Order: sequence, then structure tokens, then C-alpha cells
Amino acid sequence: MADRIFLSSPHMSDEGYEMQYVQEAFDTNWIAPLGKNVDEFERELSAKVGSKAAAALSSGTGAIHLALKAAGVGEGDIVFCPTLTFSATANPIIYLNAVPVFIDSNYETWNMCPKALEQAFEKYPNVKAVIVVHLYGLSADMDKIVELCKKHNVALIEDAAESLGAYYKGKHTGSFGDYGIFSFNGNKIITTSGGGMLVSDNEERIAKARFWATQSRDQARHYQHSELGFNYRMSNVVAGIGRGQLKVLEQRVAKKKYIFEFYKKELGSLEGVKFMPINEWNEPNYWLSSLTLNGPVRPLDIMMALEKENIESRPVWKPMHMQPFFEKYDFVGTDVAEKLFDNGVCLPSDTKMTDGDLERVVEIVGNIQIPKKQYFI
Ligand SMILES: *Cc1c(COP(=O)(O)O)cnc(C)c1O
Repeated sequence: MADRIFLSSPHMSDEGYEMQYVQEAFDTNWIAPLGKNVDEFERELSAKVGSKAAAALSSGTGAIHLALKAAGVGEGDIVFCPTLTFSATANPIIYLNAVPVFIDSNYETWNMCPKALEQAFEKYPNVKAVIVVHLYGLSADMDKIVELCKKHNVALIEDAAESLGAYYKGKHTGSFGDYGIFSFNGNKIITTSGGGMLVSDNEERIAKARFWATQSRDQARHYQHSELGFNYRMSNVVAGIGRGQLKVLEQRVAKKKYIFEFYKKELGSLEGVKFMPINEWNEPNYWLSSLTLNGPVRPLDIMMALEKENIESRPVWKPMHMQPFFEKYDFVGTDVAEKLFDNGVCLPSDTKMTDGDLERVVEIVGNIQIPKKQYFI
């Protein structure tokens, strides 16, 4: 059996940048807590995305939790959240005993539909915060979404976990809202093995998030706490990996784009195949090359044919309003996210893939046989 091809797996730099920073932490015995790598990773990442401040955390999920908290979300508050996303976007709303209302996607962006968002504002004028996601590294329609949030004076949080290195009209995703979050989980475009970052132009709120993330220790010699605390800080070793990975982010985006264009050229003309939308205002990071199928070949046919050859692929995210845990919450929209889920598939987009690997995938997908019977009925 040929070597497994992964959907998106960790890819350390050829130059060994990560080990240099990790080694420095070991040499100085400064592996935890915090330290120079953490400070520098925060500085380097905020410079990259164009935010004034950043807090390095143990996960993207933790970053969403603290962003919601920083935005003042508490018990019983309503938070708008895209339905088409990974559950980590929605879970922190529940951590705070707040109430998610799920918003549909549009076909133009696959992300939050501004029209559905507008309807949601009419239905829930007392909403406390909006989370927008940039799925698969495609940016949402930010001009319209920012305008709506401003009009209603509601905090905007960008879940940019999948979109580091992706821009909307030349401005980095994650820098439009009051808060932005990034993830360095193992399958993201760069990884620290696990970690996250909260960014904002509001330095005071970021300082507060750091305070919450280190058990809310008051300024006192003895251990004193006036607020609930969390253990959410990133370690100095992990931040060293992040600093090294950040140096190759552009390389990774270039390779992801190459993978997407390879697939599009080879598979784009197959019957019923439509690749994820690249808008003229969008400079994606192409995290996962995804497509929808409207012909006789179904996503499962592709996933099963690839799996037989030891190649990983996956469906598009199952919408939150269709999840057993979340289905009791309200949903505003039609069937767009549901259709994207029914018809969507994410092809392997691992940056370590060779042209030979890409050809293997294309050949398998291109050769899927549709049961002949269908043509004779
Ligand atoms: C990965 C991901 C997260 C969570 O990040 P972690 O670092 O794994 O906690 C949140 N939202 C989206 C859309 C993601 O893809």
C-alpha cells in the first residue's frame, strides 16, 4: 500500500526554525511559563495580521471563550454564529451559558449570509455578539457584515482559526472585528501542536484576557482572586514552534494555492463539479481544497474511493443546527448550509504532497464509475 496522504497534517520548516526557538527555551531552562517566545510570538503574529495586541493561548477554542467574555457575553445572552462551521466555534457560547442562534451560509462565500444575518437582527434586536467564521480560508463578506454589526452596535468576533494568511480586500482576516482568533491545532495551515491566539486593537481588553487566562490573579503578594479564572496560557516551548512556523506561513499558503489550482485544472470540468468560490475581493489561504457535486457522483463515492487507496478526505462541516447537541437552538436561513454539507467534499490538501500524490488523487476521482443502470432507466 502506498504511503498515506493526509487531509492536512503538521509540516515543520525544512530550515529547522522551530527547533532553534525551542532549543533556546531549553538552553535557558525557560520552558514555562510564558517567556520570550510567548512575547515574541504575540508580537510577530499581531504584526502579521495588523492588530495592536495579541494573547497567546492554549487553544483557538479558549481564544473564542475569552473573546466572548471580553465582549461582555454572559448568561442568557444571544450570540449569532454561523451554522456551517466546526463545533469549536459554538461550544464556548454554551460555556458562558449564553444562547446561540445559528445563521445560514450563502453560495457566494460559503460563509455567513449577510441577508440571513440581517433577518436575525430583526428577530433578535437584543443580540449581544456576532461570531463570523472564514471557512477553509475563504473570507466572509466582511464589508456587509461589519456594516450590520456597526449599525446594531454589536460586538463582532472573527473565528479566523482556518484563515491565517488569508486576506479580504488586502486586510488580514481576523483584524476586522472587535476580536479575532487563530488556531495552531495540528491540522491548521501552521501548527504549534496545539494552541491559539486572541487578537484585538483594544490593548486593555487583551491585557484582561491574559489575566483571565492565568487564573485571574489580582495584583497582590498573596494569591487573591476577585474573578473566575482559567488556565489558558500558551507555554514558552509551544510558542517557539509557532515562531518558527510563522516564518514559513507564506510558503504554506503558496503550496495550498498550488494544490487548489492543480485540482481545479484537472477536475474542474467534470460533470457537476464546482469548486469553492474565490471572490475577486478574496485572497484565501486555500486551507482545504473543497468542492460540491451536483452530478451522479456523490461525496461518499469520492471519499470511499480515496480511502481505499489510503488517502484521507472529509465531508464539508455538518451544520450546527443539524447537530443533536445544538438542534434545539434557533436557526435563521434556508437550506444553503445543508446543501453544502450534502454535496461538499474536502480533498487532501497536505502541503507535503508531491505532484505524484496530486496526480494519484486526480486519477482516482476522475475514474470513479457511475453505476451504468442510471442511464437506462
Ligand atoms: C480548529 C478550529 C477551531 C478550534 O481551534 P482549536 O485550536 O482546535 O481549539 C475553531 N473554529 C474553527 C472554525 C476551527 O476550524
